[in-house]
Amino acid sequence: VFVALEGGDGSGKSTQARLLAEWLRSDQGHDVVLTREPGATPLGVRLREVLLGNTAALGSRPEALLFAADRAHHVEAVVRPALARGAVVVTDRYIDSSVAYQGAGRELDGGAVQRISDWATDGLVPALTVLLDVDPMVSKARRAHDVTRGGEDRLEAEPDGFHERVRAEFLALAAQAPHRYLVIDAGLSAEEVQQLIREGVRQVLPV
Ligand code: C5P
Repeated sequence: VFVALEGGDGSGKSTQARLLAEWLRSDQGHDVVLTREPGATPLGVRLREVLLGNTAALGSRPEALLFAADRAHHVEAVVRPALARGAVVVTDRYIDSSVAYQGAGRELDGGAVQRISDWATDGLVPALTVLLDVDPMVSKARRAHDVTRGGEDRLEAEPDGFHERVRAEFLALAAQAPHRYLVIDAGLSAEEVQQLIREGVRQVLPV
């Protein structure tokens, strides 16, 4: 079973993915692989360094292709082998992040960005995508009080409107296929968010 967590910077994805993986493993007894994009493999770590470095110098299309390259390798080397042996795979970010950040954020053609990733993954679609929805203004305000994550992502670095476009695109993707999305208000407490995620994931687990 393949589960993706998506959402804007500062939405709490990584914490929630970790809590979900712990619950699936310890409480539900599943073989669980917790993974992320970009940067889940040694090659991915190198791509992540390039991608989170000077993106202005990189350019939008090369950026989109390198995210897709990371994803292609991630799926081939980590995700598909784990699914093949019956593991539950929880990924922190997947295709929707590319459609939202490179498609909407960088104002590339979202359809093209989607098709590149569909090809990169040979059409692997999560059984469930959990979208942690947060107003970028709220994340920015929160980040101002959190010194532990400064400079690690794009919350402060992008032009006005970027994170708003990203958020709107995530919501639009979820609205297109409501049966395989769970949209959660990331403004709820971490415990409440985790509870909702577990309820959603339970529906897609084998009985
Ligand atoms: O979530 P994570 O910390 O791994 O993301 C690192 C950074 O990469 C974030 O700032 C996120 O906005 C950015 N990113 C992006 N396009 C993607 C995936 C992540 O710009 N497709």
